[in-house]
Amino acid sequence: MRVTLNRKKIAVIGGGITGLTAAFYLQKCATDNNLPLDVVLIESSLRLGGKIQTLRKDGFIIERGPESFIDHEESIKELTSHLGIQDEVIDNKEGQTYVAVGSHLYPIPSGVLLGRIPLVSSLLTSGIVSLSGKFRAAGDLLLPKTREDEDEPIGDFFRRRFGKEVVENIVEPLLAGTFAGDIDHLSIQSMFPEIYELEKQHRSLIFGMKKSQQFLFKNGIKSHQTFRNGLETLVEKLEEQLPAKSILRGVKVESIDKLDDDTLRIYFNNIAPIKCNAVIVTTPLNEAKNMFHHYGILNDIPNMNYATIATVSIAYEKEAKLSYQDATNFYFARNSDISITTCTWRNHMWDDVVPEQYDLFRTYIGRVGDEAIVELSDSDIEKTVHRDLEKAIGIKQKPLFTVVSRWKQSMPQYTVGHEKRLDKMRNIIREEFPQVKLAGSSYEGISVPDCVTQGKRAAQELVQEMFQWQPSS
Ligand SMILES: Cc1cc2nc3c(=O)[nH]c(=O)nc-3n(C[C@H](O)[C@H](O)[C@H](O)COP(=O)(O)OP(=O)(O)OC[C@H]3O[C@@H](n4cnc5c(N)ncnc54)[C@H](O)[C@@H]3O)c2cc1C
Repeated sequence: MRVTLNRKKIAVIGGGITGLTAAFYLQKCATDNNLPLDVVLIESSLRLGGKIQTLRKDGFIIERGPESFIDHEESIKELTSHLGIQDEVIDNKEGQTYVAVGSHLYPIPSGVLLGRIPLVSSLLTSGIVSLSGKFRAAGDLLLPKTREDEDEPIGDFFRRRFGKEVVENIVEPLLAGTFAGDIDHLSIQSMFPEIYELEKQHRSLIFGMKKSQQFLFKNGIKSHQTFRNGLETLVEKLEEQLPAKSILRGVKVESIDKLDDDTLRIYFNNIAPIKCNAVIVTTPLNEAKNMFHHYGILNDIPNMNYATIATVSIAYEKEAKLSYQDATNFYFARNSDISITTCTWRNHMWDDVVPEQYDLFRTYIGRVGDEAIVELSDSDIEKTVHRDLEKAIGIKQKPLFTVVSRWKQSMPQYTVGHEKRLDKMRNIIREEFPQVKLAGSSYEGISVPDCVTQGKRAAQELVQEMFQWQPSS
């Protein structure tokens, strides 16, 4: 395919939520502003959506990958309004979250996990931490701040402020359950920039969290959200908006070359190369690095680590005598003798995702350092999860069905120094390949809303640079 003198072509590599969003906003900018721009979306598998995968089965809405989002920046609100599907978005039902520590389950005060800044301070009033642990945690009010501009592991950061017990019983289960990561390697600066800033601004996290949470609630952030018919609704609606001929499926990008006329050539595993004017790469970082391997420019950027996990959805006939009937979610500390890391009671969390007579639990297994469990057979995984649910809430019956989804090397680990490595990589790409943008879950946030924000920003920046176009808002 030739690039004509006036028309420009932008290729988006990767058809997950980041790439779909980028392709959508490129197309929208082109149509709304009558720009001579063609967009091509390139995806190595035959389906779009990447990690977002909904299975709709006999009235059950089962999420194999992500199941909900908290739309802090309202990026999804904006996107769904462009797509005309605002009415498809649903809020979670009211319910209780529990954390299992040792052999006890403790309720977490509501709202703890909704802000970007978890209300760790309000957990201190619950029974999760012993009296001596509480005294140590209260030390946060007096302790000086340290290390003005240095990144450090999440575990060290919270141990320094609150002590060991808070980290073991609160921070580790909540964060490891969400990010499947090792808190002694994950970066506080990249994973929780707001908390990292809190210490700088307020010194005491307890004091700073209280102030910030008031601010977040004032801004109306109050729930997890998803789509009535599953998260894949977003993928399907984005796909509908893109002309079918602008999507290349089942083709893997192997490398990108720059040509003398400032254009780029993309090489694939199974079709002839194509020429374009700019590229947005939304694949995982290691895959992106490979595309420039022959230039040797990114040799100094270390490969990123990704955690291997599995989600296990397990359905039962409803049992009247189950414990914790008010529960929507459970988190399990490493010291709890339970293999699953988190669990959502799907029909307690959302309306209409499960037929009336059944219960559906969505659990995670596997985390950094404890990944072998993911390699077990489906039936062994089912046995393990079933045994855990029996211990935790007293399930007695046999499962109706189980859906195991393995996600190998899939959860990006923003380890200490991530920001610096990212800056370095972006600077090299900007210098050597100014027509290339990097976006997606390996870079500035792994949540679905973070990916939407990055996809939109990459699209708008490229259009601005290529057409001197300015966004209206
Ligand atoms: C099990 C699980 C649960 C999660 N739960 C939540 C949650 O509840 N809430 C939340 O907000 N987030 C959650 N996340 C995180 C979130 O789902 C992901 O970070 C996000 O969907 C990633 O989107 P992406 O487009 O950046 O990457 P991906 O979805 O990984 O898409 C990248 C795409 O690039 C393609 N690709 C790769 N290499 C090439 C190549 N060489 N050529 C062409 N194409 C290529 C891949 O096939 C893939 O489709 C979860 C993630 C997982 C795995």
